Amino acid sequence: MNLVNLMEPEQQVSFSEAVKIGLGRNQGVFFPENLAAIKDVDALLAMPFKARSSKILQHLIGDELPSDTLDDMVNRAFDFPAPIVEVEQNTYCLELFHGPTLAFKDFGGRFMSECIGLFNQGERVTILTATSGDTGAAVAHAFYGKENVDVVILYPKGKISLAQQKLFTTLGNNIHCYAVEGSFDDCQALVKHAFLDDEVKSKLGLNSANSINISRLLAQVCYYFEAIAQLSQSQREQVHVSVPSGNFGNVCAAMIAAAIGLPIRKLSATTNQNDTVPRYMATGDWSPNATLESLSNAMDVSKPNNWPRVESMLNSGIFSKDDFYSCSVSESRTQEVMKQVNKLGYVAEPHTAIAYEGLQINKSEHETGIFLATAHPAKFKESVEGVLEQQLDMPQVLSDALNKPCLAEFIQADYDGLKQRLFEKLG
Ligand SMILES: *Cc1c(COP(=O)(O)O)cnc(C)c1O
Repeated sequence: MNLVNLMEPEQQVSFSEAVKIGLGRNQGVFFPENLAAIKDVDALLAMPFKARSSKILQHLIGDELPSDTLDDMVNRAFDFPAPIVEVEQNTYCLELFHGPTLAFKDFGGRFMSECIGLFNQGERVTILTATSGDTGAAVAHAFYGKENVDVVILYPKGKISLAQQKLFTTLGNNIHCYAVEGSFDDCQALVKHAFLDDEVKSKLGLNSANSINISRLLAQVCYYFEAIAQLSQSQREQVHVSVPSGNFGNVCAAMIAAAIGLPIRKLSATTNQNDTVPRYMATGDWSPNATLESLSNAMDVSKPNNWPRVESMLNSGIFSKDDFYSCSVSESRTQEVMKQVNKLGYVAEPHTAIAYEGLQINKSEHETGIFLATAHPAKFKESVEGVLEQQLDMPQVLSDALNKPCLAEFIQADYDGLKQRLFEKLG
């Protein structure tokens, strides 16, 4: 697989290099040089999830990975289902929250962990990542107990839900967590600073594991096939998929799926009040505002780092601009929709409600709608119970985590202080 840096096209790398370095020169993201169509998509859709996923990844990655190695990696990484649930006529929810940390990020995090394990054999790696909610837990669980790997997670103190936080700060072992006095942007700035610090980078063998990593993106392509595989033949003809979007990685994976032949006719990428992309689509003006805190906190992003990939596919016609919709949903509307979906007999947390609203706004009647449930409602217990005025059952993994002590250390948003701690702990 050959990947091109979208910022500096003369930089071209293999899949394994892209996984290891994450970001290219000049902050450019890597994108596959070409996306060939799969020949017999129907035959592929008839296969079981894991066997099919391995075929899709083999098609995308090419001969860099032997197929039996890839089979093993996929069998370990995708060890949980991605069912669709009919919520009303012609509208299905794709539940991506059946993994160990109850959010879709388990798919990408676990496949990335498999890739790093393979490519960095013997070498020391430190995964340094900032999380606004769900990435931290997915990455921590995916790399927990792996040899030669340490994980350092920074999160904004008091700004993520207790369930989100406890799912990674209670693990210990090779998972090191810091609660930063500051915002998610402050955490991200500390991570960026570390990646520009050659001493830290080489001593610790840094990798960021954030959503720009190509391995995470390719893993996510697989569950779109799984969603459509569960539809009848006639339903597959006019599929409209709605993706709740923050960094726009998930919707980017949907476009890649469409590019290699999955029949996704239309895509809605719906944001919360952090609406940089919908405004850009409407006006042509890229003008990020300050990030606002929302109920759907995993989408509190005003400079989506996967946008260059999405835009390159829209500009090259890989996915038609006419079939791509992006709008934003306010906080009050998010709550209304959570109640509305509840009346249909389904419990949607805020991100999922925003995806449902994307279909309500953009889907035509004859289309089959699929909206993504990106997290389990219990992960947003406080807000879901508050809005719906009902008690939620707690999945076992969550009640276990909630009962364990938080092992995070508190730090100021100060780079030199962080660097000193990292060297003391890991150097
Ligand atoms: C990360 C996340 C999103 C946003 O996904 P992007 O790929 O960043 O657009 C949506 N919902 C949940 C629950 C998430 O954790």
